[in-house]
Amino acid sequence: MTDVPYDEWRARAAGLTPHTGLHIGGAFTDAAAATPVISPRDGLAIAHVASAGPAEVDAAVAAARRAFDTGPWPRLSPAERKAALLRWADLAERDRDTLALLISLEMGKPITEAHGIELRALLGCLRWYAEVADKQLDEAPRTGGSSLALVTREPAGVVAAVVPWNFPLTMAAWKVAPALAAGCTVVLKPAEESPLSALHLAALAAEAGLPPGVFNVVNGPGEIAGRALGEHPGVDVLAFTGSTEVGRHFLRYAAGSNLKRVWLELGGKSPNIILPDAPDLNAAADTAAWGIFFNQGEMCTAPSRLLVHRSVAERVVERITARAASLRVGDPLDPATEMGPLVSAGHHARVLSHVATAKADGARLRAGGEAREGRYLAPTVFDRVTPSMAVAREEIFGPVLAVLEFDEVDEAVALANDTDYGLAAAVWTSDLSTAHRVSRALRAGTVWVNCYEEGDMSVPFGGVKLSGHGRDKSLHALDKYTDLKTTWIEL
Ligand code: NAD
Repeated sequence: MTDVPYDEWRARAAGLTPHTGLHIGGAFTDAAAATPVISPRDGLAIAHVASAGPAEVDAAVAAARRAFDTGPWPRLSPAERKAALLRWADLAERDRDTLALLISLEMGKPITEAHGIELRALLGCLRWYAEVADKQLDEAPRTGGSSLALVTREPAGVVAAVVPWNFPLTMAAWKVAPALAAGCTVVLKPAEESPLSALHLAALAAEAGLPPGVFNVVNGPGEIAGRALGEHPGVDVLAFTGSTEVGRHFLRYAAGSNLKRVWLELGGKSPNIILPDAPDLNAAADTAAWGIFFNQGEMCTAPSRLLVHRSVAERVVERITARAASLRVGDPLDPATEMGPLVSAGHHARVLSHVATAKADGARLRAGGEAREGRYLAPTVFDRVTPSMAVAREEIFGPVLAVLEFDEVDEAVALANDTDYGLAAAVWTSDLSTAHRVSRALRAGTVWVNCYEEGDMSVPFGGVKLSGHGRDKSLHALDKYTDLKTTWIEL
Protein backbone atom coordinates (compact mmCIF):
# COMPACT_ATOMS: atom_id res chain seq x y z
CA MET A 1 0.00 0.00 0.00
CA THR A 2 1.35 3.40 -0.91
CA ASP A 3 1.41 5.92 1.95
CA VAL A 4 0.98 8.90 -0.41
CA PRO A 5 -2.53 10.32 0.22
CA TYR A 6 -5.21 10.84 -2.45
CA ASP A 7 -4.80 14.65 -2.58
CA GLU A 8 -1.09 14.30 -3.11
CA TRP A 9 -1.54 11.86 -6.02
CA ARG A 10 -3.98 14.29 -7.63
CA ALA A 11 -1.55 17.18 -7.16
CA ARG A 12 1.27 15.13 -8.67
CA ALA A 13 -0.95 14.15 -11.61
CA ALA A 14 -1.74 17.81 -12.28
CA GLY A 15 1.96 18.72 -12.25
CA LEU A 16 3.20 15.80 -14.35
CA THR A 17 5.24 16.39 -17.52
CA PRO A 18 5.72 12.95 -19.11
CA HIS A 19 8.20 12.13 -21.85
CA THR A 20 6.42 12.30 -25.19
CA GLY A 21 9.05 11.50 -27.85
CA LEU A 22 10.02 8.17 -29.31
CA HIS A 23 13.16 6.78 -27.69
CA ILE A 24 15.57 5.76 -30.45
CA GLY A 25 19.31 5.27 -30.22
CA GLY A 26 19.49 6.47 -26.62
CA ALA A 27 17.63 9.78 -27.07
CA PHE A 28 14.10 11.12 -27.40
CA THR A 29 13.06 12.14 -30.87
CA ASP A 30 9.91 13.56 -32.48
CA ALA A 31 7.84 11.94 -35.20
CA ALA A 32 5.78 13.37 -38.06
CA ALA A 33 2.57 12.50 -36.19
CA ALA A 34 1.41 12.72 -32.57
CA THR A 35 -1.54 11.12 -30.79
CA PRO A 36 -3.25 11.99 -27.52
CA VAL A 37 -3.04 9.63 -24.55
CA ILE A 38 -6.49 9.72 -22.97
CA SER A 39 -6.87 8.91 -19.28
CA PRO A 40 -9.78 6.57 -18.57
CA ARG A 41 -10.19 8.41 -15.21
CA ASP A 42 -11.81 11.40 -16.84
CA GLY A 43 -11.58 11.02 -20.63
CA LEU A 44 -9.06 13.90 -20.82
CA ALA A 45 -5.72 13.92 -22.66
CA ILE A 46 -2.72 13.48 -20.34
CA ALA A 47 -0.21 14.19 -23.13
CA HIS A 48 0.32 14.05 -26.88
CA VAL A 49 2.86 11.41 -27.76
CA ALA A 50 4.91 11.04 -30.95
CA SER A 51 3.48 8.27 -33.10
CA ALA A 52 5.84 6.11 -35.15
CA GLY A 53 5.24 5.33 -38.80
CA PRO A 54 7.36 2.97 -40.90
CA ALA A 55 10.21 5.53 -41.14
CA GLU A 56 10.55 5.82 -37.35
CA VAL A 57 10.28 2.05 -36.94
CA ASP A 58 13.09 1.71 -39.51
CA ALA A 59 15.21 4.13 -37.49
CA ALA A 60 14.57 2.23 -34.26
CA VAL A 61 15.37 -1.15 -35.81
CA ALA A 62 18.52 0.34 -37.41
CA ALA A 63 19.62 1.64 -33.99
CA ALA A 64 18.99 -1.76 -32.38
CA ARG A 65 20.72 -3.50 -35.31
CA ARG A 66 23.86 -1.30 -34.97
CA ALA A 67 23.88 -1.81 -31.21
CA PHE A 68 23.71 -5.56 -31.75
CA ASP A 69 26.01 -5.97 -34.77
CA THR A 70 28.81 -3.60 -33.77
CA GLY A 71 27.97 -2.14 -30.35
CA PRO A 72 29.31 -3.19 -26.99
CA TRP A 73 26.19 -4.77 -25.45
CA PRO A 74 26.38 -8.37 -26.78
CA ARG A 75 30.16 -8.28 -26.29
CA LEU A 76 30.10 -7.17 -22.65
CA SER A 77 30.78 -9.83 -20.08
CA PRO A 78 27.53 -11.16 -18.60
CA ALA A 79 28.57 -9.62 -15.27
CA GLU A 80 28.74 -6.18 -16.92
CA ARG A 81 25.27 -6.62 -18.42
CA LYS A 82 24.05 -7.69 -15.00
CA ALA A 83 25.48 -4.52 -13.42
CA ALA A 84 23.75 -2.31 -16.03
CA LEU A 85 20.39 -4.04 -15.53
CA LEU A 86 20.68 -3.71 -11.75
CA ARG A 87 21.41 0.04 -12.11
CA TRP A 88 18.31 0.31 -14.29
CA ALA A 89 16.20 -1.48 -11.67
CA ASP A 90 17.54 0.83 -8.94
CA LEU A 91 16.50 3.88 -10.96
CA ALA A 92 13.06 2.39 -11.55
CA GLU A 93 12.79 1.92 -7.79
CA ARG A 94 13.86 5.54 -7.22
CA ASP A 95 11.07 6.63 -9.64
CA ARG A 96 8.53 4.12 -8.37
CA ASP A 97 5.92 6.78 -7.55
CA THR A 98 6.21 8.39 -10.99
CA LEU A 99 5.99 5.09 -12.86
CA ALA A 100 2.99 4.00 -10.78
CA LEU A 101 1.28 7.35 -11.38
CA LEU A 102 1.85 7.13 -15.15
CA ILE A 103 0.38 3.61 -15.26
CA SER A 104 -2.61 4.60 -13.17
CA LEU A 105 -3.31 7.66 -15.32
CA GLU A 106 -2.82 6.03 -18.71
CA MET A 107 -4.76 2.79 -18.23
CA GLY A 108 -6.79 3.23 -15.05
CA LYS A 109 -5.16 0.71 -12.70
CA PRO A 110 -5.79 1.60 -9.04
CA ILE A 111 -2.71 3.42 -7.76
CA THR A 112 -2.32 0.97 -4.87
CA GLU A 113 -1.99 -1.92 -7.34
CA ALA A 114 0.19 0.04 -9.77
CA HIS A 115 2.55 1.03 -6.97
CA GLY A 116 2.44 -2.36 -5.26
CA ILE A 117 1.81 -5.23 -7.64
CA GLU A 118 2.93 -3.83 -10.99
CA LEU A 119 6.07 -2.04 -9.79
CA ARG A 120 7.03 -5.05 -7.65
CA ALA A 121 6.74 -7.22 -10.76
CA LEU A 122 8.84 -4.83 -12.85
CA LEU A 123 11.64 -4.50 -10.29
CA GLY A 124 11.62 -8.21 -9.48
CA CYS A 125 11.82 -9.16 -13.15
CA LEU A 126 14.66 -6.76 -14.01
CA ARG A 127 16.68 -7.94 -11.00
CA TRP A 128 15.98 -11.63 -11.54
CA TYR A 129 17.25 -11.63 -15.13
CA ALA A 130 20.16 -9.37 -14.17
CA GLU A 131 21.20 -12.01 -11.63
CA VAL A 132 20.67 -14.80 -14.14
CA ALA A 133 22.89 -13.13 -16.77
CA ASP A 134 26.19 -14.28 -15.29
CA LYS A 135 25.05 -17.67 -13.98
CA GLN A 136 24.42 -19.54 -17.24
CA LEU A 137 26.74 -22.34 -18.31
CA ASP A 138 27.37 -23.65 -21.82
CA GLU A 139 27.88 -27.34 -22.70
CA ALA A 140 30.83 -29.42 -23.81
CA PRO A 141 29.36 -32.82 -24.80
CA ARG A 142 31.60 -35.91 -24.57
CA THR A 143 32.14 -36.48 -28.30
CA GLY A 144 35.30 -38.57 -28.05
CA GLY A 145 39.07 -38.32 -27.90
CA SER A 146 39.91 -36.47 -31.10
CA SER A 147 37.33 -33.71 -30.99
CA LEU A 148 35.95 -30.99 -28.79
CA ALA A 149 32.33 -29.94 -29.26
CA LEU A 150 30.98 -26.77 -27.68
CA VAL A 151 27.28 -25.98 -27.48
CA THR A 152 26.92 -22.28 -26.69
CA ARG A 153 23.90 -20.04 -26.30
CA GLU A 154 24.22 -17.03 -28.59
CA PRO A 155 22.02 -13.94 -28.30
CA ALA A 156 19.38 -14.15 -31.06
CA GLY A 157 19.79 -10.56 -32.29
CA VAL A 158 17.28 -7.72 -32.49
CA VAL A 159 14.12 -8.43 -30.51
CA ALA A 160 10.88 -6.53 -31.13
CA ALA A 161 8.48 -6.69 -28.19
CA VAL A 162 4.86 -5.68 -28.82
CA VAL A 163 2.79 -5.52 -25.65
CA PRO A 164 -0.71 -4.68 -24.37
CA TRP A 165 -1.90 -2.02 -21.92
CA ASN A 166 -3.24 -4.10 -19.05
CA PHE A 167 0.13 -4.48 -17.28
CA PRO A 168 2.19 -2.04 -19.31
CA LEU A 169 5.51 -2.52 -17.51
CA THR A 170 5.17 -6.13 -16.33
CA MET A 171 4.40 -7.40 -19.83
CA ALA A 172 7.28 -5.32 -21.23
CA ALA A 173 9.73 -6.48 -18.54
CA TRP A 174 8.91 -10.17 -19.06
CA LYS A 175 10.29 -9.81 -22.59
CA VAL A 176 12.84 -7.00 -22.33
CA ALA A 177 14.70 -8.28 -19.25
CA PRO A 178 15.54 -11.82 -20.49
CA ALA A 179 16.29 -10.49 -24.01
CA LEU A 180 18.76 -7.92 -22.68
CA ALA A 181 20.27 -10.32 -20.16
CA ALA A 182 20.93 -12.72 -23.06
CA GLY A 183 22.77 -9.97 -24.99
CA CYS A 184 20.04 -9.05 -27.48
CA THR A 185 18.97 -5.49 -28.27
CA VAL A 186 15.29 -4.48 -28.13
CA VAL A 187 12.65 -2.32 -29.78
CA LEU A 188 9.58 -2.13 -27.53
CA LYS A 189 6.21 -1.08 -28.90
CA PRO A 190 3.83 -0.34 -26.05
CA ALA A 191 0.08 -0.28 -26.59
CA GLU A 192 -1.30 3.02 -27.90
CA GLU A 193 -3.19 3.40 -24.59
CA SER A 194 -0.11 3.13 -22.36
CA PRO A 195 3.09 4.57 -23.86
CA LEU A 196 3.97 6.98 -21.03
CA SER A 197 5.28 4.48 -18.47
CA ALA A 198 7.35 2.74 -21.18
CA LEU A 199 8.89 6.05 -22.30
CA HIS A 200 9.84 6.86 -18.70
CA LEU A 201 11.46 3.45 -18.41
CA ALA A 202 13.45 4.22 -21.59
CA ALA A 203 14.75 7.46 -20.07
CA LEU A 204 15.90 5.46 -17.04
CA ALA A 205 17.67 2.94 -19.29
CA ALA A 206 19.72 5.76 -20.79
CA GLU A 207 20.43 7.16 -17.31
CA ALA A 208 21.56 3.70 -16.17
CA GLY A 209 24.13 3.70 -18.96
CA LEU A 210 22.65 1.11 -21.31
CA PRO A 211 24.48 1.87 -24.58
CA PRO A 212 22.52 3.78 -27.26
CA GLY A 213 20.25 1.54 -29.32
CA VAL A 214 20.14 -1.29 -26.79
CA PHE A 215 16.61 -0.39 -25.63
CA ASN A 216 14.35 1.62 -27.95
CA VAL A 217 10.67 2.51 -27.50
CA VAL A 218 8.37 3.33 -30.42
CA ASN A 219 4.81 4.26 -29.66
CA GLY A 220 2.32 3.99 -32.51
CA PRO A 221 -0.82 2.31 -33.84
CA GLY A 222 -0.67 -1.47 -33.99
CA GLU A 223 -1.66 -1.67 -37.63
CA ILE A 224 1.20 0.70 -38.55
CA ALA A 225 4.07 0.52 -36.04
CA GLY A 226 3.31 -3.02 -34.82
CA ARG A 227 2.93 -4.28 -38.35
CA ALA A 228 6.14 -2.54 -39.48
CA LEU A 229 8.02 -4.38 -36.71
CA GLY A 230 6.35 -7.68 -37.61
CA GLU A 231 7.37 -7.34 -41.26
CA HIS A 232 10.80 -5.82 -40.68
CA PRO A 233 13.72 -7.80 -42.14
CA GLY A 234 16.03 -6.37 -39.46
CA VAL A 235 14.07 -7.95 -36.58
CA ASP A 236 15.20 -11.47 -35.59
CA VAL A 237 12.65 -12.25 -32.88
CA LEU A 238 9.14 -10.91 -32.36
CA ALA A 239 7.79 -11.38 -28.83
CA PHE A 240 4.11 -10.52 -28.58
CA THR A 241 1.57 -10.33 -25.79
CA GLY A 242 -1.98 -9.43 -26.76
CA SER A 243 -5.09 -10.77 -28.41
CA THR A 244 -5.28 -14.01 -30.36
CA GLU A 245 -6.48 -12.10 -33.41
CA VAL A 246 -3.37 -9.90 -33.52
CA GLY A 247 -1.17 -12.92 -32.75
CA ARG A 248 -2.38 -14.46 -36.02
CA HIS A 249 -1.30 -11.26 -37.83
CA PHE A 250 2.23 -11.61 -36.47
CA LEU A 251 2.54 -15.14 -37.80
CA ARG A 252 1.47 -13.82 -41.22
CA TYR A 253 3.90 -10.89 -41.04
CA ALA A 254 6.75 -13.29 -40.28
CA ALA A 255 5.69 -15.72 -43.01
CA GLY A 256 5.65 -12.89 -45.56
CA SER A 257 8.99 -11.39 -44.51
CA ASN A 258 12.11 -12.96 -42.99
CA LEU A 259 10.56 -15.88 -41.05
CA LYS A 260 11.55 -14.19 -37.81
CA ARG A 261 10.72 -16.24 -34.76
CA VAL A 262 7.35 -15.22 -33.30
CA TRP A 263 6.45 -15.91 -29.67
CA LEU A 264 2.82 -15.46 -28.70
CA GLU A 265 1.23 -14.85 -25.28
CA LEU A 266 -2.46 -14.49 -26.11
CA GLY A 267 -5.94 -14.43 -24.64
CA GLY A 268 -7.72 -16.74 -22.23
CA LYS A 269 -11.06 -17.91 -20.85
CA SER A 270 -9.75 -19.64 -17.78
CA PRO A 271 -11.83 -22.17 -15.80
CA ASN A 272 -11.83 -22.13 -12.02
CA ILE A 273 -13.27 -25.41 -10.68
CA ILE A 274 -14.65 -25.46 -7.14
CA LEU A 275 -15.38 -28.92 -5.77
CA PRO A 276 -17.49 -29.42 -2.62
CA ASP A 277 -14.45 -30.66 -0.71
CA ALA A 278 -12.50 -27.41 -1.23
CA PRO A 279 -10.38 -26.91 1.90
CA ASP A 280 -12.19 -23.63 2.61
CA LEU A 281 -15.21 -22.77 0.47
CA ASN A 282 -15.26 -19.16 1.64
CA ALA A 283 -11.63 -18.73 0.63
CA ALA A 284 -12.40 -20.33 -2.74
CA ALA A 285 -15.30 -17.91 -3.28
CA ASP A 286 -13.30 -14.88 -2.15
CA THR A 287 -10.42 -15.83 -4.45
CA ALA A 288 -12.81 -16.36 -7.36
CA ALA A 289 -14.19 -12.85 -6.79
CA TRP A 290 -10.78 -11.31 -6.36
CA GLY A 291 -9.50 -13.04 -9.49
CA ILE A 292 -12.23 -11.85 -11.83
CA PHE A 293 -12.44 -8.28 -10.51
CA PHE A 294 -8.70 -7.65 -10.02
CA ASN A 295 -7.35 -5.12 -12.56
CA GLN A 296 -10.98 -4.47 -13.69
CA GLY A 297 -11.03 -8.01 -15.09
CA GLU A 298 -8.51 -6.87 -17.69
CA MET A 299 -6.41 -9.96 -17.08
CA CYS A 300 -5.43 -12.61 -19.61
CA THR A 301 -5.56 -15.19 -16.81
CA ALA A 302 -8.81 -13.93 -15.23
CA PRO A 303 -10.84 -16.89 -13.87
CA SER A 304 -13.77 -15.81 -16.03
CA ARG A 305 -15.50 -19.21 -16.02
CA LEU A 306 -16.42 -20.38 -12.54
CA LEU A 307 -17.31 -24.09 -12.63
CA VAL A 308 -18.88 -24.86 -9.29
CA HIS A 309 -20.37 -28.09 -7.98
CA ARG A 310 -24.15 -27.83 -7.87
CA SER A 311 -24.30 -28.75 -4.16
CA VAL A 312 -22.32 -25.63 -3.12
CA ALA A 313 -23.09 -23.30 -6.04
CA GLU A 314 -25.61 -21.04 -4.29
CA ARG A 315 -23.42 -20.54 -1.25
CA VAL A 316 -20.38 -19.68 -3.39
CA VAL A 317 -22.28 -17.37 -5.74
CA GLU A 318 -23.92 -15.51 -2.85
CA ARG A 319 -20.53 -14.79 -1.34
CA ILE A 320 -19.13 -13.61 -4.69
CA THR A 321 -22.09 -11.29 -5.33
CA ALA A 322 -21.73 -9.83 -1.83
CA ARG A 323 -18.09 -9.14 -2.57
CA ALA A 324 -19.03 -7.62 -5.95
CA ALA A 325 -21.45 -5.26 -4.23
CA SER A 326 -18.90 -4.15 -1.64
CA LEU A 327 -15.97 -3.49 -3.99
CA ARG A 328 -14.88 0.14 -4.08
CA VAL A 329 -15.09 1.22 -7.70
CA GLY A 330 -13.75 4.70 -8.36
CA ASP A 331 -10.94 7.09 -9.15
CA PRO A 332 -7.77 5.03 -9.64
CA LEU A 333 -5.74 7.76 -7.92
CA ASP A 334 -7.58 7.18 -4.64
CA PRO A 335 -5.45 4.68 -2.66
CA ALA A 336 -8.67 3.14 -1.28
CA THR A 337 -10.00 2.29 -4.75
CA GLU A 338 -10.19 -1.44 -5.52
CA MET A 339 -11.44 -1.24 -9.11
CA GLY A 340 -10.81 1.57 -11.58
CA PRO A 341 -12.34 2.42 -14.96
CA LEU A 342 -12.00 0.25 -18.07
CA VAL A 343 -9.16 1.31 -20.31
CA SER A 344 -11.06 3.17 -23.04
CA ALA A 345 -14.50 4.20 -24.22
CA GLY A 346 -14.31 1.58 -27.00
CA HIS A 347 -13.41 -1.22 -24.59
CA HIS A 348 -16.13 -0.09 -22.15
CA ALA A 349 -18.71 -0.31 -24.96
CA ARG A 350 -17.40 -3.74 -25.97
CA VAL A 351 -17.68 -5.14 -22.44
CA LEU A 352 -21.21 -3.71 -22.11
CA SER A 353 -22.22 -5.39 -25.35
CA HIS A 354 -21.00 -8.73 -23.92
CA VAL A 355 -23.21 -8.07 -20.87
CA ALA A 356 -26.21 -7.35 -23.13
CA THR A 357 -25.57 -10.55 -25.12
CA ALA A 358 -25.37 -12.63 -21.94
CA LYS A 359 -28.74 -11.26 -20.79
CA ALA A 360 -30.28 -11.87 -24.22
CA ASP A 361 -28.91 -15.43 -24.22
CA GLY A 362 -30.76 -16.14 -20.97
CA ALA A 363 -27.97 -16.00 -18.38
CA ARG A 364 -29.22 -14.71 -15.00
CA LEU A 365 -27.67 -11.45 -13.83
CA ARG A 366 -26.78 -11.79 -10.13
CA ALA A 367 -24.69 -8.62 -9.66
CA GLY A 368 -23.66 -5.47 -11.48
CA GLY A 369 -24.24 -5.28 -15.20
CA GLU A 370 -24.88 -1.56 -15.24
CA ALA A 371 -22.48 1.08 -16.57
CA ARG A 372 -21.53 3.82 -14.16
CA GLU A 373 -20.72 7.37 -15.17
CA GLY A 374 -17.52 7.56 -17.18
CA ARG A 375 -15.80 4.33 -18.17
CA TYR A 376 -16.72 2.41 -15.04
CA LEU A 377 -18.65 -0.83 -14.83
CA ALA A 378 -20.09 -2.43 -11.72
CA PRO A 379 -18.54 -5.86 -10.95
CA THR A 380 -20.81 -8.26 -12.80
CA VAL A 381 -21.84 -11.87 -12.13
CA PHE A 382 -23.99 -14.13 -14.30
CA ASP A 383 -25.16 -17.58 -13.24
CA ARG A 384 -27.33 -20.14 -15.05
CA VAL A 385 -24.79 -19.93 -17.84
CA THR A 386 -24.69 -22.80 -20.33
CA PRO A 387 -21.52 -23.88 -22.18
CA SER A 388 -22.66 -22.65 -25.59
CA MET A 389 -23.42 -19.07 -24.48
CA ALA A 390 -21.01 -16.37 -25.67
CA VAL A 391 -20.39 -15.33 -22.04
CA ALA A 392 -18.94 -18.82 -21.44
CA ARG A 393 -16.84 -18.90 -24.61
CA GLU A 394 -15.53 -15.44 -25.53
CA GLU A 395 -12.82 -13.49 -23.78
CA ILE A 396 -14.49 -10.36 -22.37
CA PHE A 397 -11.45 -8.81 -20.67
CA GLY A 398 -13.64 -7.05 -18.14
CA PRO A 399 -15.13 -7.65 -14.67
CA VAL A 400 -17.72 -10.18 -15.83
CA LEU A 401 -18.00 -13.64 -14.28
CA ALA A 402 -19.84 -16.58 -15.89
CA VAL A 403 -20.96 -19.29 -13.44
CA LEU A 404 -21.63 -22.83 -14.69
CA GLU A 405 -22.68 -25.75 -12.50
CA PHE A 406 -21.74 -29.42 -12.69
CA ASP A 407 -22.44 -32.68 -10.84
CA GLU A 408 -19.40 -34.89 -11.52
CA VAL A 409 -15.66 -34.19 -11.52
CA ASP A 410 -15.23 -35.58 -15.03
CA GLU A 411 -17.99 -33.31 -16.24
CA ALA A 412 -16.13 -30.33 -14.73
CA VAL A 413 -12.93 -31.30 -16.53
CA ALA A 414 -14.77 -31.67 -19.83
CA LEU A 415 -16.41 -28.26 -19.35
CA ALA A 416 -13.08 -26.70 -18.40
CA ASN A 417 -11.38 -28.02 -21.53
CA ASP A 418 -14.30 -27.05 -23.77
CA THR A 419 -12.61 -23.84 -24.91
CA ASP A 420 -10.30 -22.68 -27.68
CA TYR A 421 -7.99 -21.18 -25.06
CA GLY A 422 -5.48 -22.80 -22.70
CA LEU A 423 -3.78 -20.16 -20.60
CA ALA A 424 -4.65 -21.02 -16.99
CA ALA A 425 -7.01 -23.07 -14.84
CA ALA A 426 -7.62 -23.85 -11.19
CA VAL A 427 -9.13 -26.58 -9.05
CA TRP A 428 -10.17 -26.41 -5.40
CA THR A 429 -10.23 -29.73 -3.54
CA SER A 430 -8.87 -31.34 -0.37
CA ASP A 431 -8.31 -34.67 -2.07
CA LEU A 432 -4.72 -35.18 -3.18
CA SER A 433 -5.58 -37.67 -5.91
CA THR A 434 -8.34 -35.48 -7.31
CA ALA A 435 -5.99 -32.48 -7.32
CA HIS A 436 -3.38 -34.40 -9.31
CA ARG A 437 -5.83 -36.14 -11.60
CA VAL A 438 -7.71 -32.94 -12.48
CA SER A 439 -4.63 -30.76 -12.88
CA ARG A 440 -3.12 -33.33 -15.26
CA ALA A 441 -6.30 -33.47 -17.29
CA LEU A 442 -6.65 -29.69 -17.66
CA ARG A 443 -5.13 -28.32 -20.87
CA ALA A 444 -3.55 -25.08 -19.73
CA GLY A 445 -0.12 -23.50 -19.34
CA THR A 446 -0.66 -23.03 -15.60
CA VAL A 447 -2.91 -24.95 -13.20
CA TRP A 448 -3.40 -23.62 -9.69
CA VAL A 449 -4.55 -25.90 -6.89
CA ASN A 450 -6.41 -24.24 -3.99
CA CYS A 451 -5.21 -20.79 -5.04
CA TYR A 452 -5.24 -18.45 -8.05
CA GLU A 453 -2.70 -16.11 -9.72
CA GLU A 454 0.14 -17.34 -7.53
CA GLY A 455 3.58 -17.34 -9.08
CA ASP A 456 7.24 -16.53 -8.89
CA MET A 457 9.85 -15.35 -11.38
CA SER A 458 11.30 -18.86 -11.33
CA VAL A 459 8.20 -20.50 -12.84
CA PRO A 460 7.32 -20.26 -16.54
CA PHE A 461 4.18 -18.52 -17.77
CA GLY A 462 2.37 -19.00 -21.07
CA GLY A 463 -0.36 -20.90 -22.83
CA VAL A 464 -1.41 -23.68 -25.15
CA LYS A 465 -4.01 -23.77 -27.96
CA LEU A 466 -5.24 -20.27 -28.93
CA SER A 467 -3.53 -18.82 -25.83
CA GLY A 468 -0.22 -19.05 -27.67
CA HIS A 469 3.09 -20.76 -27.15
CA GLY A 470 6.50 -20.08 -25.65
CA ARG A 471 7.06 -19.10 -22.06
CA ASP A 472 7.74 -15.82 -20.31
CA LYS A 473 9.48 -15.73 -16.89
CA SER A 474 11.90 -18.35 -15.53
CA LEU A 475 15.08 -19.64 -17.16
CA HIS A 476 12.93 -21.02 -20.00
CA ALA A 477 12.28 -17.49 -21.30
CA LEU A 478 15.95 -17.32 -22.26
CA ASP A 479 15.26 -19.97 -24.93
CA LYS A 480 13.24 -17.37 -26.84
CA TYR A 481 16.11 -14.93 -27.08
CA THR A 482 19.07 -17.26 -27.67
CA ASP A 483 20.21 -19.64 -30.40
CA LEU A 484 22.14 -22.80 -29.73
CA LYS A 485 25.44 -22.82 -31.63
CA THR A 486 27.51 -25.96 -32.10
CA THR A 487 31.26 -25.52 -32.57
CA TRP A 488 33.09 -28.73 -33.52
CA ILE A 489 36.86 -28.70 -33.18
CA GLU A 490 39.10 -31.48 -34.48
CA LEU A 491 41.98 -31.78 -32.06
P1 NAD B 1 -4.19 -6.20 -28.83
O1 NAD B 1 -3.85 -7.51 -29.43
O2 NAD B 1 -5.26 -5.39 -29.45
O3 NAD B 1 -2.90 -5.26 -28.80
C1 NAD B 1 -1.68 -5.69 -28.27
C2 NAD B 1 -0.55 -4.96 -28.99
O4 NAD B 1 -0.61 -5.30 -30.38
C3 NAD B 1 -0.63 -3.44 -28.90
O5 NAD B 1 0.66 -2.92 -28.76
C4 NAD B 1 -1.22 -3.06 -30.25
O6 NAD B 1 -0.84 -1.77 -30.68
C5 NAD B 1 -0.62 -4.11 -31.17
N1 NAD B 1 -1.43 -4.35 -32.38
C6 NAD B 1 -2.78 -4.21 -32.52
N2 NAD B 1 -3.14 -4.50 -33.79
C7 NAD B 1 -2.01 -4.84 -34.46
C8 NAD B 1 -1.74 -5.25 -35.79
N3 NAD B 1 -2.71 -5.36 -36.69
N4 NAD B 1 -0.46 -5.52 -36.12
C9 NAD B 1 0.54 -5.40 -35.21
N5 NAD B 1 0.34 -5.01 -33.95
C10 NAD B 1 -0.92 -4.74 -33.56
O7 NAD B 1 -4.49 -6.51 -27.31
P2 NAD B 1 -4.89 -5.50 -26.15
O8 NAD B 1 -6.29 -5.07 -26.35
O9 NAD B 1 -3.86 -4.44 -26.00
O10 NAD B 1 -4.77 -6.46 -24.87
C11 NAD B 1 -5.74 -7.37 -24.55
C12 NAD B 1 -5.40 -8.76 -25.02
O11 NAD B 1 -4.10 -9.13 -24.57
C13 NAD B 1 -6.32 -9.80 -24.45
O12 NAD B 1 -6.69 -10.72 -25.44
C14 NAD B 1 -5.48 -10.48 -23.37
O13 NAD B 1 -5.87 -11.77 -23.04
C15 NAD B 1 -4.14 -10.43 -23.98
N6 NAD B 1 -3.09 -10.58 -22.95
C16 NAD B 1 -2.41 -11.76 -22.88
C17 NAD B 1 -1.45 -11.94 -21.90
C18 NAD B 1 -0.67 -13.23 -21.80
O14 NAD B 1 0.39 -13.22 -21.18
N7 NAD B 1 -1.12 -14.33 -22.37
C19 NAD B 1 -1.18 -10.92 -20.98
C20 NAD B 1 -1.90 -9.73 -21.08
C21 NAD B 1 -2.85 -9.57 -22.08
